[in-house]
Amino acid sequence: MIIVTQAGITPDALDRIVEHVEAAGMRTHLIRGEQRTVIGCIGDDALLADQGLRSLPGVEDVLPVLKPYKLASREFSAGRTTIALGDPSGTVIGGKDVVVIAGPCSVEGAEMLRETARAVQESGARMLRGGAFKPRSSPYAFQGLGIPALSMLAEVRRESGMPIVTEVLDPRHVELVAAHADVLQIGARNMQNFPLLTEVGKVHRPVLLKRGLSATISELLMAAEYIMAQGNGSVILCERGIRTYETATRNTLDVAAVPVLKRETHLPVIVDPSHAGGRADLVTPLALAGIAAGADGLIVEVHPDPVHARSDAEQTISFSAFAALMAGVSAVAAAVGRSAPAGQPAGQRTAA
Ligand code: PEP
Ligand code: MN
Repeated sequence: MIIVTQAGITPDALDRIVEHVEAAGMRTHLIRGEQRTVIGCIGDDALLADQGLRSLPGVEDVLPVLKPYKLASREFSAGRTTIALGDPSGTVIGGKDVVVIAGPCSVEGAEMLRETARAVQESGARMLRGGAFKPRSSPYAFQGLGIPALSMLAEVRRESGMPIVTEVLDPRHVELVAAHADVLQIGARNMQNFPLLTEVGKVHRPVLLKRGLSATISELLMAAEYIMAQGNGSVILCERGIRTYETATRNTLDVAAVPVLKRETHLPVIVDPSHAGGRADLVTPLALAGIAAGADGLIVEVHPDPVHARSDAEQTISFSAFAALMAGVSAVAAAVGRSAPAGQPAGQRTAA
């Protein structure tokens, strides 16, 4: 439940309400708005049932939060969450700028990564993606270069100044991946890997949480709640297509998930048009649909030689196709009141 306090409540009165709630066995989360402070109470609401909260000095109202997710819900935040990446160019996800993350599905080597970083940065991408550890449906398929790929990502980060997004598959690798990357990706197949969610919740790195192949929006938000309950509130949600009866596309992009998530949560939401459609020719239309629907950004698979990409070749686009996509993103972003950063020559932004 949430406790709405009276405008102008004194710090002492606020402390006493918090103590009262915590003494009943609940955790509290203060949301300081411009007008008043709201106290989010986390735990079993039954613990507060007979506590006479309404009669405490400074309490204006007590409202139940009917949603199972608390920290992720709109009610638990005074505004939208923005996530600053701390890079020299000041990338912020969830603000007015649409942020585009681009790069290969898998890191295949330092040179292809460097070349991709340069090209996508020139077209306006703000962050670089690349898998070091790949969750593949077949145990015989390329599993990623592993730890050496993390060093390559860190090296290209230093050279380009672009923050890095890479997937962590194993709870035992969380600290290692966090030491190399700016954002930890939790892949669709791990959206309900609760031990992994708990581990990424303990590190101070933003998490890009992809929706599971058959997860509902509510389940996605509960997965975010697992991360946030550990103290890490920097979660970026990603709609990447869900499995439906349709076979013409790899998955079905649930465009409606974007405005629904925007209504339900204060967390930023991005769209992955590559895994959603599974085909290179669908990447641009799905990307534009995502931005039109209100997404805060995109994550797109780009490769110097898409046909020969070692994973997800069918859905990977070339540098020139990415440049064309970015032109469309700028136009659609402007049409919906957002801005997309213009491209910059690579190497002009070097990491601190
Ligand atoms: C990926 O980003 O390459 C990936 C494996 O994504 P997903 O978990 O959405 O399938
Ligand atoms: Mn992929």
